[in-house]
Amino acid sequence: MGRLHPASGRLQARVRRHRVEAAQLALSLGGVARLDQEQEPGRARGGDGHCTVEQTRVIEIGTLRRAGYVGQPAPNWWKWRYKANAIGIWPSRWGDGFIQLPNQTLQTVQVSWRFGGQRFYFICDCGRTVEKLHSFRDRPWRCRHCYGLTYATRQATPRDRYQIKAQKIRERLGGAPGFLDAFPLKPKGMHGKRYERLRNRHDDAEARFLGMMAGHILRLGERLRRKRA
Ligand SMILES: [Zn+2]
Repeated sequence: MGRLHPASGRLQARVRRHRVEAAQLALSLGGVARLDQEQEPGRARGGDGHCTVEQTRVIEIGTLRRAGYVGQPAPNWWKWRYKANAIGIWPSRWGDGFIQLPNQTLQTVQVSWRFGGQRFYFICDCGRTVEKLHSFRDRPWRCRHCYGLTYATRQATPRDRYQIKAQKIRERLGGAPGFLDAFPLKPKGMHGKRYERLRNRHDDAEARFLGMMAGHILRLGERLRRKRA
C-alpha cells in the first residue's frame, strides 16, 4: 500500500506511533486514577458505559438491613443509617418489599433459608436479585449488569493487576495499600502459615509489578532520547 505514496506511508507510520503513545499514556494515567478511586470509592465518579464497579457508589443490602430499612435493625442501627445517608440513601418511607427514596423506589425481597434464618436482596429493575446496587452521577440505583460494570482488576493492564493484587493483600492484613509503608504485621488470630502464604503472594506480585514498571519507564526514556536525537 505504501508503495504508491512513500511520503504518505511515512506520515501514516508517524500517526500510528503517536496513537500508540497516546494510548499508553492514557492507560498509565487511567491506571493511577483507578487505583486512587479504589481507595476512596465514595468520592469516585464513573464515566458512561465502561466504568468499573470501583468507580461507582455502591449500596449493599446488608447496610440497609442493619440500618433497619429491611428486616430487623441492628442494635447500633443509627451507625448504619448514617453510613447509608453518607452515600446518598435518604429513605422517606420503607416497608415490606420497598424502600422509598426521593426519586426512586428500591424493591427488596426476603428469602428464607431452608433450615431457618433469612436473607434480603434487592430486586433490580432488570429483574435480577442482587446484593449490591450501583449509582454514579445522577443515575438511578441499578445492578452492575445494567450498567455493564466490570471490576478494575479485569479491565486493568497486567501491570495494574499485580499492583492491585499486592494492595489488596496489604489491606486485608490491615495495612496501608502503598508500597512505601512497611508490610503489615500478622493480625491477631491469623495462622502463621496463612500470613506467610499471603506475604509470599504479595512479594511475588510486588516484584512483578516493579519489574514491569521498570520496563515501562525504560521504554519511555528510550522514546524520549530518540525524540531528542
Ligand atoms: Zn439490573
